[in-house]
Amino acid sequence: MSKSCLIVDDSKVIRKVARHILEALNYTVDEAADGREALDTCRQNVPDVILLDWNMPVMSGIEFLRAIDNDPLSSRPKIVFCTTENGNAHIKAAIDAGADEYIMKPFDRETLQTKLALVGLG
Ligand SMILES: [Mg+2]
Repeated sequence: MSKSCLIVDDSKVIRKVARHILEALNYTVDEAADGREALDTCRQNVPDVILLDWNMPVMSGIEFLRAIDNDPLSSRPKIVFCTTENGNAHIKAAIDAGADEYIMKPFDRETLQTKLALVGLG
């Protein structure tokens, strides 16, 4: 069975690029434009891994991390927090709030593959 990834980002372009890479790695991909949408998706079906943006309308990345901590999901997805170079200060906060790894945007296939391996996915 293929692994599943939920891409959470308010940028349609980022979602499209990430989807392209993940599908090439044989992932089943779902998308959400903000944390609220992502939470709703996770309540239906928990993905193996989530790529999580920081700045989003409605519900940000950190708010999402806190929300899933208080949500009785059937399993706990791995979470790779996506940041930009000037978002360095966010990394510690994201890890403290429960993110498993982080990745700098824009990322390429090799970098993403490395991070997915680090959280235990191939
Ligand atoms: Mg954003």
